[in-house]
Amino acid sequence: MAFTPLQLPDYREQSPEVAERFRTIRERPVVLKVTDLCKSFGVNGSTHVAFENFSLDIHRREFICIIGPSGCGKSTLIRIIAGLDEQTSGHMLVDGKEVGGPSPERGMVFQGYTLFPWLTVKRNVMFGLQMGGTSALDAEGKALQWLKVVGLARFAEAYPDQLSGGMKQRVAIARALAPNPRVLLMDEPFGALDALTRCKMQSYLLQIWKEINVTVLFITHDLDEACYLADRIIVMSANPGRVAEVIENPVPRPRRVAQMLSPEFLALKHRLDELIHGPADAEEEILPVVKLTEAGDEVE
Ligand code: ADP
Repeated sequence: MAFTPLQLPDYREQSPEVAERFRTIRERPVVLKVTDLCKSFGVNGSTHVAFENFSLDIHRREFICIIGPSGCGKSTLIRIIAGLDEQTSGHMLVDGKEVGGPSPERGMVFQGYTLFPWLTVKRNVMFGLQMGGTSALDAEGKALQWLKVVGLARFAEAYPDQLSGGMKQRVAIARALAPNPRVLLMDEPFGALDALTRCKMQSYLLQIWKEINVTVLFITHDLDEACYLADRIIVMSANPGRVAEVIENPVPRPRRVAQMLSPEFLALKHRLDELIHGPADAEEEILPVVKLTEAGDEVE
């Protein structure tokens, strides 16, 4: 039987409630303003441009996802915004003030598990606060409060190796949120988790984000994740990394996993797929399969 593709709406079509949401987001102040950011590396005497001319205004409490193929500069970009690397040119402002170098106003959650294994969960969350000058007593109070928010108050005295991957990332989120950052930067934070835990963590993050006043910049290469989480999606292309398209997500909020099968979700996902992997009707690349004999020799 011939395959008939689904008739999907245009991914730019917005219901009145979604259009209204974007109108109110645009009216909010800009928390993070990135202008003409470029990064190049010197490689064997020549210059390799990781990404160029990256500009973006993120409004208060907006949830932005950046998606793109491997090598388009996503991690380099977010590390620069976090102040962990330096841009070659361009500017970043937080609340209108130029920033450079790391600061608690830009909290970061990484893909790998980055908790200190020798500290308890509570002390991991306290660590950054105390480094920032908060007294031990206040840091402890805040840490316990944030552990409650991420549902891990019972594990305050546990050590990271006693936690599952999802729980470790919840502690990492509490640690990043404890100093009240203006922007939460997340670099594929659920990339190392199995599919089910990942899905739970996405819903969990949306719940936390709904409760607190934080703006999120989230890197992913997972199309479903971007469609499920984001207000706007920044799609990047590679070689060198550039913004290919900025898309307003037509999927209404509050989001539920069941919406992943809604026409607007599928239309958006289809567009992302097209931008990242090329048009759906393009010839599929057929990779040669080498047949081996039982002895492991190539069959002629
Ligand atoms: P992504 O996160 O989208 O996969 P990266 O930010 O890791 O992309 O990398 C973007 C580009 O910059 C890649 O071509 C990568 O090889 C290059 N790159 C990243 N870090 C370095 C480095 N320290 N030195 C040289 N090239 C680098």
